[in-house]
Amino acid sequence: MDAATWSLKARWVLPVLTPPVENGVIEIAGDKIVGVRQGGGATVDLGDVILLPGLVNAHTHLDLTGFPRPEEPPATFADWIRLVIRHRLRESPEQRWESIRAGISQSLRHGVALLGDISSDGSSARLLAGQPIGSTVYHEVLGVNARRADQTREAALAWVQETSGLETVRGLSPHAPYSTRHDLFAWAVSRCEPIQVHLAETPEEMELMARGTGPLVEMLRELDLWPATGLPGSIGEVLDWLAAGTKARPLGLVHANWLPVSMASRLGSNVTIIHCPRTHRWFGRDPFHASQWMKAGVPLALGTDGEACNRDLDILAEAREFALRHNLISPQSILEMITLNGAAVLGWRGRAGALVTGHFADALAFPVDSASPRSCPVEQVLGGLQKPCRFLWRGRWR
Ligand SMILES: [Zn+2]
Repeated sequence: MDAATWSLKARWVLPVLTPPVENGVIEIAGDKIVGVRQGGGATVDLGDVILLPGLVNAHTHLDLTGFPRPEEPPATFADWIRLVIRHRLRESPEQRWESIRAGISQSLRHGVALLGDISSDGSSARLLAGQPIGSTVYHEVLGVNARRADQTREAALAWVQETSGLETVRGLSPHAPYSTRHDLFAWAVSRCEPIQVHLAETPEEMELMARGTGPLVEMLRELDLWPATGLPGSIGEVLDWLAAGTKARPLGLVHANWLPVSMASRLGSNVTIIHCPRTHRWFGRDPFHASQWMKAGVPLALGTDGEACNRDLDILAEAREFALRHNLISPQSILEMITLNGAAVLGWRGRAGALVTGHFADALAFPVDSASPRSCPVEQVLGGLQKPCRFLWRGRWR
């Protein structure tokens, strides 16, 4: 090994791709991990801590940080959308950038090493550049009428060109089937970027798709956008376009609360469902079919969503909430949702999300709780209230 190689020892190392290593050591050269071993000396001994990969928040909206979220969710999902639209119309670009900066600071504080941001105008890509955090930024595209769809497509195309020198991975996010014309979906999936789509989130969305009625239709009527002839005809239609268009490209289906598990066979191996547990709780949704999706072979990742429907961007709090609600799912699987699976859906497979050779040296350390009845280090991380105490990003302390 060359002189620049150094090593980090911890009471427990959780590589995620392989079982926990007691008295584990990771070897680091530059920004990468070049080896993982058990025992022996190390350049830095962190002592009684659990070392795990930097966390991955697979879905957030940084530009909604600081949103004046009501204590209780509004009566309908359409009412919540009205709040978001009003907020977006009132804010200046400077206020939006301030929200994004606040979201980045929070993410750093909560041990996030990689995040997937849905950006209404793509501006987070520049604000994330140079920060000690990895990112996939998805330019949101939406439009119920043809004119708005053309505008959003042009804006997204210009953004892709303008941001080509940045290290961030760039993706597109056709917003949802109730807000995005079918030709816009088709255009987005014809591009070669990773995709995220809010899909089958609410009964209102399913009602609009199935019958063309309900609170979302009322909202579109108020906006003078109904009847909306250009929207997709069904959730199944959207799934088929996505499957045909994205092929091996990472595709994140966000929420999918009302997507029947029987549709799993229509999802390609490139699909991950992104669940946002505390947002789910805030909206008072029915239990999420996590085990059924996993049994059907569909990987799950977790996201915080934005502060329009969540209190903060603490991805570990999402995993802890998930662990409480799904106590039959193993702690190891839950850890994968906020590391490995998140990295895969964001287009970082093989580079982030695990403490193994070849990955970026992104890690965080938790104090071992010696008073805890949990001897398993993964259970300690998910079951406790401990906060991370050290962050390593690309081989340097953050
Ligand atoms: Zn979202």
